[in-house]
Amino acid sequence: MTSDLQPKPLPFSKPLDGISAKTLEIHHDKLYAGYVAKSKEIGDKLRELARSGTAAGNATYSELRGLKSAETFAVNGVYLHEWYFDVLGGNGDPAEAPELSKALAEKWGSMENAVAYLSACGMAARGWSVVAWDLKAGRLKHYNADAHNQGGVWGCIPVLVLDCYEHAYFIDYGADKAAYIAAFWKNLDWKKAEEAYLKVRGWTL
Ligand code: FE
Repeated sequence: MTSDLQPKPLPFSKPLDGISAKTLEIHHDKLYAGYVAKSKEIGDKLRELARSGTAAGNATYSELRGLKSAETFAVNGVYLHEWYFDVLGGNGDPAEAPELSKALAEKWGSMENAVAYLSACGMAARGWSVVAWDLKAGRLKHYNADAHNQGGVWGCIPVLVLDCYEHAYFIDYGADKAAYIAAFWKNLDWKKAEEAYLKVRGWTL
């Protein structure tokens, strides 16, 4: 049995405003697809190792340690990219997300403050900036992650995900990350973000 994980197509077809087709092609078709392929490969190797009855762990180095560390990097690389691509392709109008806008404005004082704060969080992140529904806290929270498998909080379901890695913007903006983050807001599909929010709002553990 092998993993049935498959790359998902980009969920929008219109060109983005300020994020080039070249960037998207590399980002989606090469990097994201690469994480899917590696997730499968790692999953298959772990399954083989587990079923062989010979798995041995060592926390300094072991094949199992290498695979387990690579597994969270690859699988989070798949999931986070899917959440990121899911909210692109829109017109950047937060009026299309009345409930989410209300929640963000309540949390950070106003929508303007929320966007400014989240943009600053994006500037401060080396990997990911994530607004998520926190199942333990029972409310929206924001967390940064410096790598796919570093900084995420278990028990949170992402709603608004911003890829802050240089590969997301270097072709289009060089080192001007702020311009890329501004483009992210311009292309945000608030309708999809609203759907994601309404799906999980109220869930608690
Ligand atoms: Fe990325």
